[in-house]
Amino acid sequence: MGERKGVNKYYPPDFNPEKHGSLNRYHNSHPLRERARKLSQGILVIRFEMPYNIWCDGCKNHIGMGVRYNAEKKKVGNYYTTPIYRFRMKCHLCVNYIEMQTDPANCDYVIVSGAQRKEERWDMAANEQVLTTEHEKKQRLEADAMFRLEHGEADRSALKKALPTLSHIQEAQSAWKDDFALNSMLRRRFRPTRTSRNS
Ligand SMILES: [Zn+2]
Repeated sequence: MGERKGVNKYYPPDFNPEKHGSLNRYHNSHPLRERARKLSQGILVIRFEMPYNIWCDGCKNHIGMGVRYNAEKKKVGNYYTTPIYRFRMKCHLCVNYIEMQTDPANCDYVIVSGAQRKEERWDMAANEQVLTTEHEKKQRLEADAMFRLEHGEADRSALKKALPTLSHIQEAQSAWKDDFALNSMLRRRFRPTRTSRNS
């Protein structure tokens, strides 16, 4: 006597024996089933977008930022309370697998295996432009503060009153500096490349 499974005998309306063959194969072809099929191992299949340009170790091809893959997503640890996720995907041009994971400390992704990150170099011309603008803004602010102190607020009590303002200005300046550093970092990261392979 053949073994019988008493479960899962419902045939859904779109079940097509020619296309799906068996009920099992039908279920495995279901998108959500497919995405969640390794959930017991903590793996979910997601759409992963390449965060920067890389070189595949397998076929040595260049893979551009923004190329999308079906990737297995898995939690591999924590950085303080932030989960660290690892993504595993097959190169669309060869059989090589690429593994990347989040790097919460640096708000970045790192390559674990299977690829090399294409080095992005700092565009000095654009950088200088930013520095100049930022520098001018700062100078104007300092000049304004000095102007106010030297003219119209010359007496001691006025100067005293102005002191908190000065420290505010200093705070604002250091905040700008932080903003600038952040902007620089983002620009560096997302600037279209004019670079060559660094091997
Ligand atoms: Zn490849």
